[in-house]
Amino acid sequence: MHQFPKIGILGAGQLGKMMAIAVAKWHLPLSFLDQSKEFPAGSLSHSFTEGSFKDYQDVYDFGQSVDVLSIEIEHVNTEALRDLATEGKIIHPAPDKIELIKDKGLQKEFYRNHNLPTSSYILMNSKEDILKALETRELAYPFVQKTRTAGYDGKGVAVIKGVKDLEKMMDAPSVIEDLVDIKKELAVIVARRPSGEVKAYPLVEMEFHPTANLVEFLLCPAQVNQEISDRATSLAIQVAESMDICGLLAVELFLTNDDEILINEVAPRPHNSGHHTIDSCHTSQFEQHIRAILDLPLGSTKLKTKGIMINLLGHPDHTGPAYYDGLENALSIEGVNVHIYGKAQTKPYRKMGHISIIGDDILAMKEKAKKVKQLLKVICK
Ligand code: ADP
Repeated sequence: MHQFPKIGILGAGQLGKMMAIAVAKWHLPLSFLDQSKEFPAGSLSHSFTEGSFKDYQDVYDFGQSVDVLSIEIEHVNTEALRDLATEGKIIHPAPDKIELIKDKGLQKEFYRNHNLPTSSYILMNSKEDILKALETRELAYPFVQKTRTAGYDGKGVAVIKGVKDLEKMMDAPSVIEDLVDIKKELAVIVARRPSGEVKAYPLVEMEFHPTANLVEFLLCPAQVNQEISDRATSLAIQVAESMDICGLLAVELFLTNDDEILINEVAPRPHNSGHHTIDSCHTSQFEQHIRAILDLPLGSTKLKTKGIMINLLGHPDHTGPAYYDGLENALSIEGVNVHIYGKAQTKPYRKMGHISIIGDDILAMKEKAKKVKQLLKVICK
């Protein structure tokens, strides 16, 4: 019988939970470190360590208890990971890659240094510096401000089109980027294993919620021509190879109005833009991540069926214990797959689950997705 190494995951949210579900079929146990066993991956964990993935000692001790370490979030203590790596622990993605990616400034520098296409930018240290640059005309409207660290799901991003938007500006070290004329937002998930094998998932297209800055509809395959799809896919593979990533790399891209493809940002782990792979692809992104970090043969990334994914978000006005309304109605629709993460508390726009719709006809699937959005709701009694 194959003896799997002991795998530890930093973070026990929905991504960890879906990793655990994916490899339960191999009877492969995962261990998690996070603040509470009540978190989504808690009930599916083989062993659970309560602690903080941001704390040096917690991460170091947890790392000592497993053979292979990985993450479901980038905001972890990389100092502890560096020390563990020096002592010979297998860690994917490598600590220096996590450090590179969790700082949007370093990410941008990487793209520039490797001649990888991304929007033009400058780095700024504070709000005061940005205002000064506007005064001296070193910087002009419009632009996008992104805090270098700790941003996610659109938090830490401000679009500044003119003086009236200055109040939205954040006071933190930031990347100041050109505002791109976006035709479509695209993403490719690439899997790469230590021995070098690489596979990319089919290109997806994301339509964003206008205020929540979260994906509203994700379509797979993206509705673009073959040339664009091929170009986006090879660019994503090029990024994963130049970063020397092991595990998954989700590459978010902008297709501009001139059909240029620019890299927006990357994440070295399973990603929201790959949730549809559970129901649509031969191998889900979660199984693929574990295959990649264990240096096992990568699974096929081919589509079995087209997919649309929608996030199940917390109601904008509700905070409190979460309940689900309309599940029965949603489940009665053919091709609808409901995934609930099991977070005890709902908050405005919190990702509480997702739904994937599978089928052959993207338009008909989108109608179903809209219907499910009306039917299935997170409520707070
Ligand atoms: P997060 O890390 O929070 O996901 P992103 O960098 O992906 O932040 O930005 C969130 C959204 O803001 C993007 O999906 C896109 O819609 C918009 N955006 C980001 N950068 C730019 C840009 N340079 N030009 C235009 N829109 C942008």
